[in-house]
Amino acid sequence: MLNYPKSFLIMSSRRKFLQSSVLGSAAIVTDKNVLTTPALVPPVFDQPIVVSTWDFGKTANAEAWKILSANGRALDAVEAGVKVPEADPTNQTIGLGGLPDRDGHVTLDACIMDEFYNCGSVMALEHIVHAISVARLVMEKTPHIVLAGDGALQFALANGFKKENLLTPASEKAWKEWLKTSKYEPMMNIENKLFDKEHDPMPGGPGNHDTIGMLAMDARGNLSGACTTSGMAFKMHGRVGDSPIIGAGLYVDNEIGAATSSGVGEEVIRIVGSHLVVELMRRGYTPEKACKEAVERIVKRGPEKSEKIQVGFVALNKKGQFGAYALQKGFTISVKSAKEEKIYAAKSIY
Ligand code: ASP
Repeated sequence: MLNYPKSFLIMSSRRKFLQSSVLGSAAIVTDKNVLTTPALVPPVFDQPIVVSTWDFGKTANAEAWKILSANGRALDAVEAGVKVPEADPTNQTIGLGGLPDRDGHVTLDACIMDEFYNCGSVMALEHIVHAISVARLVMEKTPHIVLAGDGALQFALANGFKKENLLTPASEKAWKEWLKTSKYEPMMNIENKLFDKEHDPMPGGPGNHDTIGMLAMDARGNLSGACTTSGMAFKMHGRVGDSPIIGAGLYVDNEIGAATSSGVGEEVIRIVGSHLVVELMRRGYTPEKACKEAVERIVKRGPEKSEKIQVGFVALNKKGQFGAYALQKGFTISVKSAKEEKIYAAKSIY
C-alpha cells in the first residue's frame, strides 16, 4: 500500500470546503429495485466506501475494503479490488477466462484514474491477466495515457508481467458453440424480456454479468476508479468498448465524484457517459439522477435500439453518496462501507 504524498493533505482540506458548498440532497439506492428519495439518507463524511458494478463486485469490494479500512489510498483499493474478478477463471467477462472475440482471442480493455486526473488505459491487450495493473503502469511509468494491442503487451512484458493463455476450456467451448451460428449481435446484460435462460448467448456462463467498474472514496475523501473487462463476447477482433476510454467507461473528478458503466460500450462512448454523469453531479444532480439522465440520452438517440440492449451507470459523489440507473432491469451494484455490505438493484427505464 502506498503512503499518501503531502499534497493529499491539501486535497483533504479542499474537500471540507466542498462538503459545505456543493451538492444538495442525494438519491441513493436502498433496496432491490427501490431507489429512495434523497432526504432519508444522511450524508456520510470521512467514511471510506467502495461501489462496483454487478453482484460479483461484492468479492472485489471486500479486497478493496482491506485497503480502505486500513486508511489506504483509493487508487490502491480499486486496483486490488478489480484484480479479484480478473483472476477468477469462472468469470467469463473479465480477465482470465473472459469470452474471446470472434476469432478466438481474449482481448482485454481496462483503465484506472486517480484523484489528480492521472489516468492510464490499455486496449485490446492479450495474454495478461491483470490488465488493470498494466493500465496503472501506463499511468505511472509513461508520458502516455493509452497503450493498445501489441504495444500494450510489449510494455507489460517489459515490466515483468507474465504471458498467459487466457482462454479457459469453458470459454473456448462457449466460443465454439457460438461459431455454429456466428450470430454477430451485440446484445448483453439483458435480464428481462430478451434475455432468458433459453436464449442465453453464454450458456453455462455468468448470464447477464459483464464489466467490473469500481469507484472508491478513501478515509481522506479522495476518489479513484478502475474499470476492466474482456468486452463484448465474440466481438470483432480489434473492437474496443467504452471500458478503457477515459470519460466513457470511467471518470473521476476528485472535486465532484466519479462514475463508471457497464453494458453496450458503443452507446456509452457516444454520450461520453461517465464524464457526463460526473458533470451532471457538478451541476447538483444526485448520483442516481445523473445516471438516469445519462441513460435517458441513450434512449433519446434510439428508443427502439435502447429496448434491446443494456447499459448501466453507477456514480459516487464526494459525500460518499451513490446511485445507479440502467436501461433494463437486472443491473446491480455492490456496495461496501463501514455501515453496510450490500447488493442493490438499480432502477431502470424499461
Ligand atoms: N462495456 C463493455 C464493452 O462494451 C461490456 C459490458 O460492460 O457489458 O466492452
